[in-house]
Amino acid sequence: MAGLYVHFPFCKQACHYCNFHFSTQLKKAPDFPILLEEELESRYTFLEAAPLESIYFGGGSPSLMNPSDIQRLIQKAKELLGTIPQVEITIELNPDDVTIPYLEGLQQAGINRVSLGIQSFWESDLQLMNRAHNREQALTALSQCKEHFDNVSVDLIYGMPGSSLRKWQENLEVLASFEVPHLAAYALTVEPNTALAHQVKKDQIELLPEEEVAQQYEWLVDDMTKQGFVNYEFSNFGQPGSFSVNNSNYWKRKPYLGIGPGAHSYDGRLHRNWNVSNNVLYQKGIASGQLANTSEILTQKDVFNETIMTGLRTRWGVNRVAIQEQFGAVYARHLETQVEEHLIQKNLFWDGDTLLVSRQARFLTDGIAADLFLVNFDS
Ligand code: SF4
Repeated sequence: MAGLYVHFPFCKQACHYCNFHFSTQLKKAPDFPILLEEELESRYTFLEAAPLESIYFGGGSPSLMNPSDIQRLIQKAKELLGTIPQVEITIELNPDDVTIPYLEGLQQAGINRVSLGIQSFWESDLQLMNRAHNREQALTALSQCKEHFDNVSVDLIYGMPGSSLRKWQENLEVLASFEVPHLAAYALTVEPNTALAHQVKKDQIELLPEEEVAQQYEWLVDDMTKQGFVNYEFSNFGQPGSFSVNNSNYWKRKPYLGIGPGAHSYDGRLHRNWNVSNNVLYQKGIASGQLANTSEILTQKDVFNETIMTGLRTRWGVNRVAIQEQFGAVYARHLETQVEEHLIQKNLFWDGDTLLVSRQARFLTDGIAADLFLVNFDS
């Protein structure tokens, strides 16, 4: 089974931390739904493993799309690839785009899961991030989403400059009062070529010390666990039955097709490709039938390393039997050797044949995974 990702590359304004592909030239936005449809028609055969288990509208700000355009894309995907009966169809929403008529339009279009980009309930954080919404809009949008959809996810950001554990706890308390079934919480990271990177370089913003960021993450995991959420991926928390199918499939390395500028696709084996991250070139490429798209053929070593990285970030871990079957004895032995030190340090542990990161080492997951990578073996 497979997934479809649709990238809508426009935003009302640039959030200071964001390095996703988007443009604020909104006058071009109405041209894009039809371009996306044309790309889907020309590239859907990339997926051999249809039907679709999930369709995901991300961006950018897909909540700038009309529900009728979203509906047409969903219908086209169903026609070309088919969907399983319980297909998950998600859209990312910015709180300032949410209205009751819009949510009703999304329901009619076939959307059954919404992911609301709140990021913080604190006005000061929202202003610092240059978000287009304020606290009031976040609260209103969240209660409206809850009224219209059972499957609601919220995005929050921790480790904000000038924040404190208490401020972060209050964000989580406000969220808890809405009883949403899913949360994605990310640490604020400074990406190159963003306004935030510039502000940090100019000493206009002081980042929170790493220990305080880790403390906020620790609180998050404990608090969400107490509320009955499963921390099924490093940054993702779901009530049982409410894990994101789209995200889970990505971590399980299932095939997906990404359409839109900058969107990535993966065939589930060794082939990954991505579209040009430029709206003008994308539009020209679709018009001429020659969309600029870069391909990469992964080596076994790449796939092994990615399997370790994504596996350790999830509750499904890394299974040594599957490693042996997929990659062979040399890789399996490498894994057994590399984990030893981390087993002694109690950063990792075996649950049967599954390698998992211990609770104490969760915040160190990426570094631990890198220690297990194969770096000097030609496959
Ligand atoms: S709305 Fe989302 S995609 Fe757009 S700039 Fe902000 S974080 Fe980036």
